[in-house]
Amino acid sequence: MRGLRVWSKLLGVEHATVERVEFAEDASELVVHVRPSRTKRGRCGRCERRCPGYDQGSGRRRWRALDLGTVIAWIEADAPRVRCPEHGVIVAAVPWARHDTGHTRFFDEQIAWLAVNTSKSAVTRLMRIAWRTVGAIITRVVADIDARVDRLDGLRRIGIDEISHRKGHRYLTVVVDHDTRRLVWAAPGRDRATLEGFFDALGPDRSKLITHISADAAPWIADVVAARAPQAVRCADPFHVVAWATDALDTVRRQVWNEARQLARAENAALGKRGRGRPRGDAPARVGQQRARALKGTRYALWKNPEDLTERQAEKLAWIAATSPVLYRAYLLKEGLRYVFKVKGEDGKQALDRWISWAQRCRIPAFTDLAKTIRKHRAAIDATLEHGLSNALIESTNTKIRLLQRVAYGFTNPEALIGLAMLSLGAHPPQLPGRTHG
Ligand SMILES: [Zn+2]
Repeated sequence: MRGLRVWSKLLGVEHATVERVEFAEDASELVVHVRPSRTKRGRCGRCERRCPGYDQGSGRRRWRALDLGTVIAWIEADAPRVRCPEHGVIVAAVPWARHDTGHTRFFDEQIAWLAVNTSKSAVTRLMRIAWRTVGAIITRVVADIDARVDRLDGLRRIGIDEISHRKGHRYLTVVVDHDTRRLVWAAPGRDRATLEGFFDALGPDRSKLITHISADAAPWIADVVAARAPQAVRCADPFHVVAWATDALDTVRRQVWNEARQLARAENAALGKRGRGRPRGDAPARVGQQRARALKGTRYALWKNPEDLTERQAEKLAWIAATSPVLYRAYLLKEGLRYVFKVKGEDGKQALDRWISWAQRCRIPAFTDLAKTIRKHRAAIDATLEHGLSNALIESTNTKIRLLQRVAYGFTNPEALIGLAMLSLGAHPPQLPGRTHG
């Protein structure tokens, strides 16, 4: 390899001839002038069909390439237009870049890889690029992968979930494959029309092959599933069932806290009558205030799985057990329901029987109500226990997408967030440019 051909190898420009190379902008940027090889010339930018030429377009154009050492590199070439029978007058395709973009394919691939594998600030500083542009690149890299692979092939057992983002104002509907444990589909929105979009993409033949669908109890999911995949066993999503219990527990916690605050207020009023100022040594203990304060910090101790508690949180829990029997009972009920999905199978079903009768007589309204809800969805919950569909997949997908949202915050459209989720959690992670072996 000699002379100008070295440059095309360095920049990953194939099917093109390098005409000349020059420094620009105080030698901090390198411009490589190229022209596509004969076979790649005069093709439609969209469909790459060979078309008659139209005009010279708006002259020469530059594409940002991967840096060469410390120097920013550009590819420069003519950007003529052709007349495609399908796509009309359109800028001709170039072999080194996707249609209508300002970056080379190699640049795009590297951005996508970095976005998935490093931090936002690492990508933008290393690549000297705005985060918004990263979002656009991710979207087109994913579109390219989707044109090549069919993520919906071979689906048998799937999970459907909705994930809120932007502080609960926007939603995504996501579909995961329980067998490969991959994210296979996502779209903005959470309604029938959104989910219909998934079954449209899947098509009637493949919809018939779905054997199990886990989802939360939302009617819009149930209705669409019943209409489009009636043969599939509906399984309740353990993640959401346990979340119901966590919500009920939180209701109880707030009630107990409010009671303590009322007590504190009554104590203050009593102190006020006895004169101003702080309670003295002989003043009655301000139980209400102390309890209200202590309860405020118990949320995480109650929420977390007991095996994940810090020492301090474990102490809080012991304090709750000693001072607030109702709240502690609510906590045990939440943990009891979690246990049901941990043991699964026949044991799980028996544990659920015991749990329901316990919750029914617990005299805590939030949990007697929950017992009713659970009975209503018993068939779907039993299906989950029988088929051993795991809670962990939906839960971890949910958590990971929430983290990605934080990363994707500067992206202007949900497609970039979906793209990032697909690249990170789907079956086709981004590849580094020019690598054939890892
Ligand atoms: Zn075309």
